[in-house]
Amino acid sequence: MSVATAEVPIAEPVKSFVSTTRKMLINGKWVEAASGKTFPTFNPATGDVLANIPDGQKEDIDRAVKAARAAFDKGPWRKITPSERGRLIWKLADLMEPHLEEFAQLESLDNGKPVTVARAADVPLAIDLFRYMAGWATKIEGNTIPISVPYTPGAQYHAYTLREPVGVVGQIIPWNFPLLMAAWKLGPALAAGCTIVLKPAEQTPLSALLLGELMCEAGLPDGVVNIITGYGETAGAALAAHPDVDKVAFTGSTEVGKLILNAAASNLKKVSLELGGKSPSLVLQDADLNAGIPGVASAIFFNHGQCCCAGSRLYVEKGIFDNVISGVVEQAKKIKVGPGMDPATDMGPLVSDEQQQRVLGYLESGVSEGAKAVVGGGRLGDKGYFVEPTVLVNTTPTMKVIQEEIFGPVVCAEPFTDLDEVITQANNSIYGLAAAIWTKDLSKAHRIAAQLQAGTVWINCHNIFDAALPFGGYKQSGWGREMGHDALELYTEVKAVCARL
Ligand code: NAP
Ligand code: MG
Repeated sequence: MSVATAEVPIAEPVKSFVSTTRKMLINGKWVEAASGKTFPTFNPATGDVLANIPDGQKEDIDRAVKAARAAFDKGPWRKITPSERGRLIWKLADLMEPHLEEFAQLESLDNGKPVTVARAADVPLAIDLFRYMAGWATKIEGNTIPISVPYTPGAQYHAYTLREPVGVVGQIIPWNFPLLMAAWKLGPALAAGCTIVLKPAEQTPLSALLLGELMCEAGLPDGVVNIITGYGETAGAALAAHPDVDKVAFTGSTEVGKLILNAAASNLKKVSLELGGKSPSLVLQDADLNAGIPGVASAIFFNHGQCCCAGSRLYVEKGIFDNVISGVVEQAKKIKVGPGMDPATDMGPLVSDEQQQRVLGYLESGVSEGAKAVVGGGRLGDKGYFVEPTVLVNTTPTMKVIQEEIFGPVVCAEPFTDLDEVITQANNSIYGLAAAIWTKDLSKAHRIAAQLQAGTVWINCHNIFDAALPFGGYKQSGWGREMGHDALELYTEVKAVCARL
């Protein structure tokens, strides 16, 4: 394990973007917070201030919701045809292409992730998501429904459903994939014809603000997308509770998800939630370990374990346990940890001081309860928020490190002997976001997939995402599905129309 050092030069447009105090987007205008206050966002590789951002609060949320309401009720947006709506979303994707490097660098500087990963994954996935959703704008359809109505004998009816936009949508997103989470939220909401107030995470607001500039350039009417930067407890809470917001979509911790739900109760706005996870990887005796070992390692170490679907519990059949663990340890040792802007870096710092402390706290807790780190186990370097890729063994089902989401590069590995028992153990979690099975026996894999309580089950792979594939959680991992055509259900209401003929 080594700390890489040589960084790629920061592109000129990125330099100027971060060196000017940013503004927020309300009703098509770039504005300061009503209070005039700003807050800093930090470079997690160094802990230095990266940029200053408006500290949006309740008053700003009010202004943004008002703009979104006017754009929904009275603006040109409602009259724009589905085809034109689709073209605008497609145009946004086209405008993002030439800014790919800028987005990747902003993402790396703000979040800490390797710029190489942001270039290859975050940004292209976000662009692809917009293109996929652009296609849906013209395909949101109702049905005609034959009805019988037994208490009106002889009468005839023409009945059908309409799918209409839900209205003004509040969207609150996390810091682990800042641009991509903005795309997952904005894409389907725009395709459905909603208007939006987006609140990015305080740690990583920059890429959403650049995206906002491109949305203006694409020609989205004023007020259709508003972006308020600020803290969760102030801006986020005000958005979730706002009486004139029709729906709130949230991604983040299960703890805050429950607060969102409570806040939404005031006007019973619709709620969708994409929350935490503690996803199990099951490695069976007959698995192809040449693929399986790097597979389960990257299941946890990709994005520094800061993935809601990270493979953070590793269950390996007893006969191959030592072999798999030593393989995963080798993989962990090979990971080059360093600043995200170094092209040689495989793993950057965690997003913040707070997250570093949180993850280190879990490592201490695990060890104090009897777990053992066979690789890693601590902080790396004395500057920035780096944590070593870590494999814990000797864990037991009741330990905090097994029950709770760590959200860092830490995997807990346990051997198993009985398949039914390990399925029970895999399901023994308040979460149910994802799971993975590694085996050459595909029939067995599909039978196990049916028994796992998870919104996504990967077979011989992990962290495979596509704009067409729905993603979301069972149990306390969330409500609703993002991506795929399921995402449109989050942003539409069904209206039944019934005419007596
Ligand atoms: P978080 O607090 O749940 O943040 C997610 C989003 O919710 C952010 O935009 C946050 O704003 C906002 N928020 C916070 N409190 C709010 C409130 N009372 N009302 C409305 N919005 C609110 O997540 P975090 O603190 O950044 O991370 C803590 C843990 O959450 C992680 O360790 C991890 O376990 C989990 N997490 C899960 C995911 C996921 O993808 N499922 C993503 C991130 C984190 P601010 O950031 O401005 O406070
Ligand atoms: Mg927070």
